[in-house]
Amino acid sequence: MTSSFSPVLQSRLPQVGTTIFTVMSALATQHQAVNLGQGFPDFACDPALTALVNAAMQAGHNQYPLMAGVPALRDAVSEKLERLYGRHYRAADEITITAGATQAIFTALMALVHPGDEVIVLEPCYDSYLPNIALAGGVVVRVPLTPGTFRPDFGKIAAALSAKTRAIIINTPHNPSGTVWSQADMLALEALLAPTNVIVISDEVYEHMVFDGAAHESASRFGGLAERAIIVSSFGKTYHVTGWKVGFVAAPAALTVEFRKVHQFNVFTVNTPVQHALAAYMAHTDAYAALPAFYQRKRDLFRAGMAQTPFKLLPSEGTFFQCADISAVSDRSESDFCQWLTTDIGVTAIPMSAFYAEGFDQRIIRFCFAKEDSTLEAALERLQTRLPRT
Ligand code: PMP
Ligand code: GLN
Repeated sequence: MTSSFSPVLQSRLPQVGTTIFTVMSALATQHQAVNLGQGFPDFACDPALTALVNAAMQAGHNQYPLMAGVPALRDAVSEKLERLYGRHYRAADEITITAGATQAIFTALMALVHPGDEVIVLEPCYDSYLPNIALAGGVVVRVPLTPGTFRPDFGKIAAALSAKTRAIIINTPHNPSGTVWSQADMLALEALLAPTNVIVISDEVYEHMVFDGAAHESASRFGGLAERAIIVSSFGKTYHVTGWKVGFVAAPAALTVEFRKVHQFNVFTVNTPVQHALAAYMAHTDAYAALPAFYQRKRDLFRAGMAQTPFKLLPSEGTFFQCADISAVSDRSESDFCQWLTTDIGVTAIPMSAFYAEGFDQRIIRFCFAKEDSTLEAALERLQTRLPRT
């Protein structure tokens, strides 16, 4: 029997291929390059944390937990947000445990954006935002962060606001640039949005990675932002367990109601034993308190080594990323350069252009320093000795 089914599908995401992180990690493996591309630690998490997951499984925490997440974990998140940022979120109806920040952001957009609504994104931005907005039927309004410094330009953000603006996505500390928004930045955003009904999706997955004594300015600290904000974070970044894919959302009850309507039919709920383990861990340790110093030391080690190469380093105020200008090293495009760096020099990085919808090339690439010192040293040795000097 001949079938009339034609598998020529109309793509919901015609412009989208495989993410740059997957592509570059595969290339790194193929060429045995030191992978400083995709953002993930190559070191183990605290063995106490894996022991707690094991204990939770042994104790029988293996069935569905409550839809919004294990209560003890929501309590721990609530306690942390209040202690660090001075705002109380009720565990019962203002905190939801998610399958990582990626699901949190997708679910928030699906819950809050109606077809034709505009969503402002600040480019460069994390690569899931734009396809997520498209899937929600929203219209992406791209506003560039200032090239060179990657600081927000509130004049440009103001000009992008319209009667159709439903939401803005912000991200501090910022992937990929490593910039951290100041209190003045947050106050400027708060003032700008005060006369509007715009929702803020605040991606704070690097909340515990801020350097040189600076503070993380969570949107939850600012009343005029908190009332309209979906705060998103990820345990993966904080506890060196990116593969566990568990995060959380904190938002006022009215927003949480809508968030959970989608969440329950998106994932319903999230990995039970990992939630119990994280709850127990958070109750007994504030391991994140040591993170700024831990990552600042790695940043400084990496920067000191990079100073012996022709790369020009940008500041890294937070996150676990270090950006570098390649213009003194090569005439190649960012993308070609990252391929060549992997295949010929043996170190993998990510082109900044991958974080722009239209691939804006400003000769900057991103390295991840969430690696063992020995990994960073191996990469630095290659960059110091194998790059042609101009
Ligand atoms: N937002 C940003 C800015 C990120 O860098 C990441 C890391 N992949 C995510 C969201 C997603 O986090 P998760 O792995 O918890 O989904
Ligand atoms: N957030 C990580 C990065 O920016 C990777 C996430 C992913 O692989 N999707 O490198």
